[in-house]
Amino acid sequence: MSSGVRLLVLGKQGAGKGTQAVRMAAHYGVPHISTGDIFRQAAADRTSFGLKAKEYMKRGELVPDDVVIGVVAERLAKEDVVDDGFILDGFPRTKVQAEALQQLLGPNGLDAAVDIDVPTEVVIDRISGRLVCRTCGTTYHVSKPPKVDRLCDKDGGDVVQREDDTPDAVKRRLDLYEQDTRPLLEYYDGLGLLITVDGDGDPDDVFGRILDAVEEARQSRLSAPR
Ligand code: ADP
Repeated sequence: MSSGVRLLVLGKQGAGKGTQAVRMAAHYGVPHISTGDIFRQAAADRTSFGLKAKEYMKRGELVPDDVVIGVVAERLAKEDVVDDGFILDGFPRTKVQAEALQQLLGPNGLDAAVDIDVPTEVVIDRISGRLVCRTCGTTYHVSKPPKVDRLCDKDGGDVVQREDDTPDAVKRRLDLYEQDTRPLLEYYDGLGLLITVDGDGDPDDVFGRILDAVEEARQSRLSAPR
């Protein structure tokens, strides 16, 4: 197994970031860090921080930058990440967060920023029909639900619609993507780190495309003069 990667995954809500980030983390043997998962877990644990984050999430708003940056900084300092690397999923989402990440990682920090590119019409259909297992996070679509009604095929957990997958919250999240997150594509392109992968189609094919593109980027970096 190739290890030691430091990657982040960008893409609209519903582009498949979470699904692909989990697979990438397993493939490279590195931790998967999802800010959305961290906030949902904190909300489920009813910590005061989690309850505050939940208010933003429910409305489809972004959690304030200083809060998110603090959470990520803490996670990136842990030994598993320092030793092995990471797949960051859902962070950064604003220019302020991206700049903070560069500061945290220092020079030669990231191997690549992978953008999973999917047309907006496709993500709206995916999110409005999305169902998710409350315990393991596996996602389904109403057109392809679990085999036994609303119980996860993997662990039997309840399969529900996420609270922020309502039409209003989805619209707000996609608007914020255009406003705050899309500019990051240019930012990472400017740093020579952007990889764009077509995210439409079968998840296995998308995963194959991601691995090929990441390997290509790593090889060209290895052979490039420093
Ligand atoms: P999605 O990509 O579908 O919006 P996530 O699980 O990544 O789902 O995030 C869910 C919510 O968590 C976001 O709508 C936002 O409120 C909050 N969140 C996650 N990551 C960030 C971040 N980097 N900055 C601000 N808020 C975030």
